[in-house]
Amino acid sequence: MINWFRKREIKRKEKIEVDGVSIDIIYKYIKNIHLRILPPDGRVLITTPPRINQEDLISFIYSKIDWIKKNRQKIINQSKHHYYEFRTGEVHYFLGKEYEMNVVATSAREKIVLGERTITLFVKPDSTKTSRKKIVDDWYRDRLKETVPEIIKKWEMIMNVHVTEFGVKIMKTRWGTCNTRVSRIWLNLELAKKPTEILEYIIVHEMIHLFERSHNHRFKALMSCYLPNWKSLEHQLKTFPEEKNNFDY
Ligand SMILES: [Zn+2]
Repeated sequence: MINWFRKREIKRKEKIEVDGVSIDIIYKYIKNIHLRILPPDGRVLITTPPRINQEDLISFIYSKIDWIKKNRQKIINQSKHHYYEFRTGEVHYFLGKEYEMNVVATSAREKIVLGERTITLFVKPDSTKTSRKKIVDDWYRDRLKETVPEIIKKWEMIMNVHVTEFGVKIMKTRWGTCNTRVSRIWLNLELAKKPTEILEYIIVHEMIHLFERSHNHRFKALMSCYLPNWKSLEHQLKTFPEEKNNFDY
């Protein structure tokens, strides 16, 4: 076991630049060249056997350089959404639409003003990223509390069920949950960023749990009955920008 690891220990590292792209090369006792682009900053990393010919290595990089540049940009763009700083110029989402964030220092009350294409965050001059995030999260929560009751009401009528209560919270792995015993629904705060039809899809999903607790055939049949396009909504949810897509519901 120990030998196995030793054999693969890093032999040497270097940094080179090819066509304006900085590339980290790690020489290791491995069989083949591996090329990776790492989030959030699009660092290009190549691990290669130590005995590789320098010319072969450079020509390998040149053969991939267009792919590297394209995918590097893609990873940087995606990562921007994963690592919000709550600063001017960032793109944020609300009900499926993109808004450019504009941060304005104020000595008055902190608040958020939503424009046609901008989301303006009025905050104390010394506000931290955490405090700005809290203002935005509270705002999202308030918006959901305005939007969700109507959707629940609509589906209570259609499905002839009753939801006693709903809440919104930050959830790491789920879009929503349903406590069938007390007919209470929890929704992920992230849903405020999604198009309304996706929010509605999750609500309907949780409400169907009032009939059927597991995701079995009956559940899917009910889903198709109430929301025939639910599969396309699910696809939309999974492909919507910014998410890590590891949520369940
Ligand atoms: Zn479920």
